[in-house]
Amino acid sequence: MYDNDLSDIVAADKRHVWHHLVQHKAFESSDPRVIVEGKGIHVWDATGKRYLDAVSGAVWTVNVGYGRESIADAVRDQLVKLNYFAGAAGNIPGALFAEKLIEKMPGMSRVYYNNSGSEANEKAFKMVRQIAHKKSGGKKHKILFRDRDYHGTTITCLSAGGQPERSAQYGPYTPGFVEVPHCLEYRAADQGWGDLSGAEYGRRAADAIEEVILREGPDTVGALCLEPVTAGGGVITPPEGYWPRVQEICKKYDILLHIDEVVCGLGRTGTWFGYQNYGIEPDMVTMAKGVASGYAAIACLVTTEEVFDMFKDDASDPMGYFRDISTFGGCTAGPAAALENMRIIEEEGLLENTLAMGARLMERLEEIKARHEVVGDVRGKGLFCGLELVTDRETRAAVAENDAQAVVADCAAQGVMIGVTNRSLPGLNNTLCLSPALIVTAGQIDEIAAAIDAALTKVFG
Ligand code: PMP
Repeated sequence: MYDNDLSDIVAADKRHVWHHLVQHKAFESSDPRVIVEGKGIHVWDATGKRYLDAVSGAVWTVNVGYGRESIADAVRDQLVKLNYFAGAAGNIPGALFAEKLIEKMPGMSRVYYNNSGSEANEKAFKMVRQIAHKKSGGKKHKILFRDRDYHGTTITCLSAGGQPERSAQYGPYTPGFVEVPHCLEYRAADQGWGDLSGAEYGRRAADAIEEVILREGPDTVGALCLEPVTAGGGVITPPEGYWPRVQEICKKYDILLHIDEVVCGLGRTGTWFGYQNYGIEPDMVTMAKGVASGYAAIACLVTTEEVFDMFKDDASDPMGYFRDISTFGGCTAGPAAALENMRIIEEEGLLENTLAMGARLMERLEEIKARHEVVGDVRGKGLFCGLELVTDRETRAAVAENDAQAVVADCAAQGVMIGVTNRSLPGLNNTLCLSPALIVTAGQIDEIAAAIDAALTKVFG
């Protein structure tokens, strides 16, 4: 497709590309790993080395795998017909995808198109603020977020972020965002909750949200924004007891529940959406990565009809609607790709495969835990799993970041790409992350596990 030498491309990248999440000073002495091709679950770099990608494009995105010609065809056909139109006008894939999506989300009703997870979350925050202005003169405007959760990269999303190292240097922040405690059972003791576990821990962590609401004043709190399974904060799956109590608290204080499905959405946990594992009834849901598996940039903010209705109660009020636009929300490539992405998930039975392969992956990880003292905790839902590495199972002290990175590097050398939580606070970069494409086979699950097993032996003995 490009007739340049690969070495020229690597050199151009090194000279001019400012990479995401990279400390470029440390990177100067090595060549970037330029990925040139993908097929199924595998990718190839510029040297021709093949990797089994167990993180779906580094950040849990390529749910249906690489090289899907039917998505490329759908996007191409749509682009030559109509690539773009914004504003009040509709378009064919936008209408069809919205309908298909809502079919899978009982209780939800309206789809607002955006182009990134951060943007979708930011729009949800704007809706909460506008509802507060309409219903309580702006009073019920506070938005609660959870320690360790991440909701995006803009200054406002960082204000709603429970990963302080990501926001530390970007203040001042947007006011009105308030943190609630995390829900990681393995770290109950660090929260002062002793050895509480299971549903008891889940309820305690949810009660802690109510304590914050009461402290802030329930009439000032408009929404609670949570990831169904916390992703970058350590692959955290809340135990039983948590979600029913969270839902109850939201209803009790008339607080909108906004679920951030940017990572879990479209099959990652074996259900269409992560929240559907827990019987949650959200008011707003945001999603991005898996919506089109990275074949086009698209994110959605989905609301109930009740939320939608709050923005159309008075047609004569010039301020009475959601006064917002997203330029690239008018790109048709996104919904065209998303529609085909969803068809693939359905027709290839990828939710079923995710449940079966996720169970196999958890089994393999438990076996690894039994063999390696350094594995303190194994967590997961569907094809989204984490292994927390500790120097001592009693104290649960985290391994050094370099050691966790060494495991990732050794797996890559073996031809398997895995991830590690990207937190630069000491003691928080110790969870290995796995999220292979939903097409992964039993043999590939075993290959991923074997690579981790070997890497742990190499790094920790
Ligand atoms: N929410 C969650 C849970 C995420 O993990 C991310 C990105 N990793 C975002 C929001 C932000 O999405 P984007 O990078 O598309 O803006």
